[in-house]
Amino acid sequence: RMKLDVDVLRYLSKDDFRVLTAVELGMRNHEIVPTELIDRIARLKHGGTYKVLKNLLKYKLLHHDSSKYDGFRLTYLGYDFLAIKTMVNKGVFVSVGRQIGVGKESDIFEVAREDGRVLAMKLHRLGRVSFRAVKTKRDYLRHRSSYNWLYLSRLAALKEFAFMKALETHGFPVPNAVEQNRHCVIMSLVQGFPLVQVRQLQNPETVFETIIGLVVRLAEHGLIHCDFNEFNIMIDDEEKITMIDFPQMVSVSHRNAQMYFDRDVECIFKFFRKRFNLSFQESIEDIDGSDEVGDEAGKPCFSAIERKSGFLDRDLSASGFTRKDEEDIQRFIEGGAEHDTDTISDSEGVDLVEDQDEVGTVDGDSSHLVEQNDGFESEGKDESCKVCESSESE
Ligand code: ADP
Ligand code: MG
Repeated sequence: RMKLDVDVLRYLSKDDFRVLTAVELGMRNHEIVPTELIDRIARLKHGGTYKVLKNLLKYKLLHHDSSKYDGFRLTYLGYDFLAIKTMVNKGVFVSVGRQIGVGKESDIFEVAREDGRVLAMKLHRLGRVSFRAVKTKRDYLRHRSSYNWLYLSRLAALKEFAFMKALETHGFPVPNAVEQNRHCVIMSLVQGFPLVQVRQLQNPETVFETIIGLVVRLAEHGLIHCDFNEFNIMIDDEEKITMIDFPQMVSVSHRNAQMYFDRDVECIFKFFRKRFNLSFQESIEDIDGSDEVGDEAGKPCFSAIERKSGFLDRDLSASGFTRKDEEDIQRFIEGGAEHDTDTISDSEGVDLVEDQDEVGTVDGDSSHLVEQNDGFESEGKDESCKVCESSESE
């Protein structure tokens, strides 16, 4: 499993981060960033870039690829370090501790503030699983697939952060959203355990009702969790519930909303039936001789839930999460590896270009790495176009 050796952070110099940032910038329009381009963006004296590249390679922050032309790309670790460095510089936390969770598309660590308070850091890995499948299937997309994970993981983090903030505002039991940068979300550390690890409850009925109540209240606010199960519900010693993991949430106006809602509800019913032996009677309407196992009594009915309007748009855009972001990430999540990846890659390409005007994360963050060089950003962009054209025409 992924190891995050943050000690390496201490050995990395300003020049190291400068070159790492240069590769990140280059990856906006290059899957493999040509070495020459990195050198021109980083602008270190006396061929310093080449020495630094070797160092970054040694620490596995970059990957070297010379199949098409000589170049480098960021590894997950390299991207992690850029996010971590940025957060540490901002004073969000001072150290990274043990890994507390491994999801299929994330790694979760403890981090500590200066005052010793511990927070949780979620590093999103969207595209980690699926794009490998895509790669083998669709060979011609190979040259584009690698900055997909950068883009998608950042999008997942942005979405998670936006939803967590909005949900907290509306009084839902979620972690406190502290900060987001690139593919990284910092939130409060939830006490207790995922429900899946709990064998016994004092009041299983109460816990069950609380959880179903949450699903309903979410829908009233226009949202469906879409992955609401015993892995994403935390419970503490007082049997207090906290829900986590939001990148896949959808609006109740989604075309499959009913199905997602019913699936979330069914997951909870099934888990409590099996684990805590709660029994739910079949409702009268369903005893009509059909082969299907009938609906259980007490299951909330999606179409009967009264909506409180405006939740999504108003509150999410406050965190910078746009409708287009939602479309992009949803297209990926719903499509998975089977998905028509052309559309993803195309829309991503557009986004990468648009980002250069927005100058969100990367430009703002890298400023501390390059403060003595004002022409850094624009230069990087200009150079990248030239090199891009020249290397593509070969
Ligand atoms: P994934 O999307 O990969 O499933 P999750 O957000 O569900 O990621 O996190 C994976 C696991 O990490 C959770 O099941 C939980 O055990 C742990 N975890 C996540 N967030 C927190 C948190 N804020 N506090 C404590 N543990 C957490
Ligand atoms: Mg999860």
